[in-house]
Amino acid sequence: MISFEEAMETVLKHARPLPPVLTRIEDAVGRTLLEDVASATDMPPFDKSAVDGYAVRAAGVKPGVELPCRGLIQAGADFKRPLRSGECVKIMTGAPVPAGADAVVMVEYTLEKNGLVKFSAGIGRGDNIARRGEDVKRGQRILRRGTVISIEHIAALAAAGRAEVKTGALPSVALVNTGGEIVPPGRLLGRNRIYNSNGPMLAAMLRTDGVHAAPVIARDEPKALRAALARALKADIVLVSGGVSMGDYDLVPGTLKALGVKQLFHKVRVRPGKPMFFGVKGRKLVFGIPGNPVANFMAYLAYIRPAIRSLASRPDCAPKFRDGECAVKFEPRTPRRALVLSKVCARNKYALYGIDNNGSADILALAEANCFTMIKEKGSVKKGGSAKFLRW
Ligand code: AMP
Ligand code: MG
Repeated sequence: MISFEEAMETVLKHARPLPPVLTRIEDAVGRTLLEDVASATDMPPFDKSAVDGYAVRAAGVKPGVELPCRGLIQAGADFKRPLRSGECVKIMTGAPVPAGADAVVMVEYTLEKNGLVKFSAGIGRGDNIARRGEDVKRGQRILRRGTVISIEHIAALAAAGRAEVKTGALPSVALVNTGGEIVPPGRLLGRNRIYNSNGPMLAAMLRTDGVHAAPVIARDEPKALRAALARALKADIVLVSGGVSMGDYDLVPGTLKALGVKQLFHKVRVRPGKPMFFGVKGRKLVFGIPGNPVANFMAYLAYIRPAIRSLASRPDCAPKFRDGECAVKFEPRTPRRALVLSKVCARNKYALYGIDNNGSADILALAEANCFTMIKEKGSVKKGGSAKFLRW
């Protein structure tokens, strides 16, 4: 039986990046940028009015001065000739400032009557003009390779002229929930049945990582299970819940091996999630998770999300355990590493509270918690002691 750390490392070691793909920028949030992006244009691309008003030569504008207005420049349009001294032209925000003009007076400081504009204030050279290239020069790098794209980057990519960027690829994921007792929520719950918690929960967790997968339920019956797993093995990552422990109907590891999956581990010294199966078939990754929902939740955070990120070339793959302080005594009473459902509150330190629970099937305890507190093998931590925690 391997340690929790060895298990996490083994998964990451086998989760090698997929080939890069072109991604539309609106779909690129959360993806790793796999190229340096330079702007195809100056930003702004031309001298542009920052206000609605009148383009002028600043030297000729004083309070009380009146100038003839020679036309109107709409955003996207052009004034065909240079502006001469002793005249002005009406201009809208975002329109190009004509040659010859060196300032724009806000409409609020003007009064137009019969083609004459009277100014109530003077103006400095350059006022209310956004100069070509003042934000970004053409060819300038705006985002570096390796950046994880976030929403605030999208407008910059668009302004730089990019509709698509080269990014890491998201793996396809197949989701199989095994067990003759499992029923999809929304159906009538028959005798001795239980609703499928793992499927929707894992599907929802996958979505937070940009992956869409629909849960499939498979009975613990060799033929049905083999067919479901063979189909699932078309994906880059296969997630199977249930059927991986020592029961007479825990057929998943044997069936996976029969389908050519090479086992890398099958037991981890951790609670929850001891009978955890991990294997590979070529570059495909296969996770067999014990049926209890808390174990599935933990497995997602500790192994599956890191694997997805690694395939997607993300720099931040390994789960991030932080240091906290136990606000109560933690005494998990297990010879294995314990991940205890807890609530962390940010004070001057991160204070950790255990959540009362009835074990790995206690879904409401999971709903109340916001982290796992990690307690070492056979260990306990007294109130005020320190422990690492994994927050979600
Ligand atoms: P197993 O790992 O198949 O032995 O299942 C362990 C426990 O988890 C059993 O009590 C199952 O009924 C329960 N279980 C298995 N799969 C699911 C699921 N998809 N949703 C909720 N509970 C499950
Ligand atoms: Mg089962």
